[in-house]
Amino acid sequence: MDKRAFLEGFFTASTVALGGHFMWRRLQNPDSLIISSNPPLASDPLLPQTGQPAPPGFSFTPLEIESAQPQQGLPIPAPTLEPGPARTQDPAPRTAESGEDGFNIAQLSDRQVDEYLRKIRNFDAIFASDIYLDPKYEQVLLKTTRHLARVESYIGHGNFNLMSFDEMLQSGRNFSRIGAFAADELNFLEEIFFANPHRYGFFGKKISLEITDAIPKKDVAKIPDSGHFLLRGESLNLYEKMKADVGQIILTSGVRSNVKQMHLFLAKTIEANGNLSRASRSLAPPGHSYHGVGDFDIGKIGFGERNFTADFSSTEEYKKIARLGYVDIRYPTDNLFGVRFEPWHIKIG
Ligand SMILES: [Zn+2]
Repeated sequence: MDKRAFLEGFFTASTVALGGHFMWRRLQNPDSLIISSNPPLASDPLLPQTGQPAPPGFSFTPLEIESAQPQQGLPIPAPTLEPGPARTQDPAPRTAESGEDGFNIAQLSDRQVDEYLRKIRNFDAIFASDIYLDPKYEQVLLKTTRHLARVESYIGHGNFNLMSFDEMLQSGRNFSRIGAFAADELNFLEEIFFANPHRYGFFGKKISLEITDAIPKKDVAKIPDSGHFLLRGESLNLYEKMKADVGQIILTSGVRSNVKQMHLFLAKTIEANGNLSRASRSLAPPGHSYHGVGDFDIGKIGFGERNFTADFSSTEEYKKIARLGYVDIRYPTDNLFGVRFEPWHIKIG
């Protein structure tokens, strides 16, 4: 298939998705479908948290926002923080990588900045300008995600974190319980990997340029009782130092391969009923996750799923970490990546 034609057809604006009674079936738990049998008008989306209409539609222009370094240090959680004037007057410098479509926040109007912030503060809400995967890819999305789940359950959750694309292909060929990956699945994985996520509102940098990039096994260390791995050197040293200084913390996710990130992102896309914008507000698309180069997630022992919510920032453990002075988080509140506040995600480098 002609690649350009494919990409042109790849994304669907919410107007089409909602107006066309777009229904996204979930693999499990159909009750939590967000789009009801009475889909709201695209101009009047409902917030899933409240069932109330969302604030007036966000007319975010397709400015391609380039990743910029977020503020240093651990921020105080401030969900109602107003955008400061410094942000509009102090644009991030363009880098060589930012190119023609580099993000320059000075080009955004106050209203656009407000709306950008409203999206990442309400990351799980649906916005009128959200971009959906074209529904014609629904079947291949479901099929490919199930296929990756078979790989993961066959080779184990721990090992799957490190699995390269080539190893994934090999596992399909070698084990009949997994089954070989078909051309449509491989095309789909490739297109997801190479599509520019700026188009749906994720503005982080591309970290891994090739889908086949692999994590050298000799460079990682298995972290006892976690099922996860860390890159030796800076990541492992930081984790061990934090653990010694803070005590009751655990590694909840370490280094992740492109295949692992792909599976997480596709599952998140299904959960978001095909809304790529919503999915990418809480999970970096494959190739764009800093977990591939050393970032890791930590949690408080016994805090369970809440370790992956803003609640983590009110734990004693987070406060201790904030006071250490040598730890940064990757996605602070109101960051420029288009991503929610992630107090658990530790930045390396
Ligand atoms: Zn993370």
